[in-house]
Amino acid sequence: MKPQVVFALGRPGAGKGTQCSSITEHCNYTHLSAGDLLRKERTRADSEFSQKIDECFKRGEFVPGEITITLLRQAMEETMKNDKNKFRFLIDGFPPDVENLRCWTQVMDGEADVRFILLFDCSDEVSISRCLERGKSSGRDDDNKERVEKRIQTYLQSTRPVIARYHKEGKVRAIDASRSVTEVFDDVKSVFDREG
Ligand code: ADP
Ligand code: AMP
Repeated sequence: MKPQVVFALGRPGAGKGTQCSSITEHCNYTHLSAGDLLRKERTRADSEFSQKIDECFKRGEFVPGEITITLLRQAMEETMKNDKNKFRFLIDGFPPDVENLRCWTQVMDGEADVRFILLFDCSDEVSISRCLERGKSSGRDDDNKERVEKRIQTYLQSTRPVIARYHKEGKVRAIDASRSVTEVFDDVKSVFDREG
């Protein structure tokens, strides 16, 4: 089976990870977080990509699509190798910009179907307060006010054009992410129930 992919996008701290983990319990999707895969690869001693990932993270730049897509592809292949029925993937935090999208289209066109985009919508205030709350225990050096504000600007400048492109294709399913976890989850569930 060709991988069936849903991308989850939204401001940092919108709740993408929280909702993506929950939805995997409700339907047969495997959650892959682009950020988590990159952070893990960054610290892997024998990785051919760790140095480049480290440089990009330190400069606050996106890791080139080729690297992120290689990691996503490996994770998808591994999952499907272990269980051929697991061909549905919920990819969180990707594509972060049009370069990564272009690369995905180039490499994955015909290899995977992008079903739709789950867009977790919230204000800058919600994004900042949730990241600061997460920062108390996440150990992430980017969960502080200054970095979150910068990440929101990057999201607006770089990720919104990706969303606009998918919007033109009628593929964006927007959800008001500013409500409680359960309220947001009810909407997420309805989208998956509708789309299959
Ligand atoms: P993202 O993956 O979009 O960066 P997370 O899922 O990691 O966001 O959520 C960021 C923080 O906000 C976490 O501490 C999480 O527990 C909390 N959170 C997630 N969804 C909600 C919600 N609907 N209401 C309040 N807090 C939330
Ligand atoms: P998060 O989605 O919040 O878990 O974190 C993703 C982190 O990875 C952010 O700091 C992103 O800027 C960074 N990142 C770097 N390159 C990429 C990429 N190609 N795709 C997704 N996230 C990336």
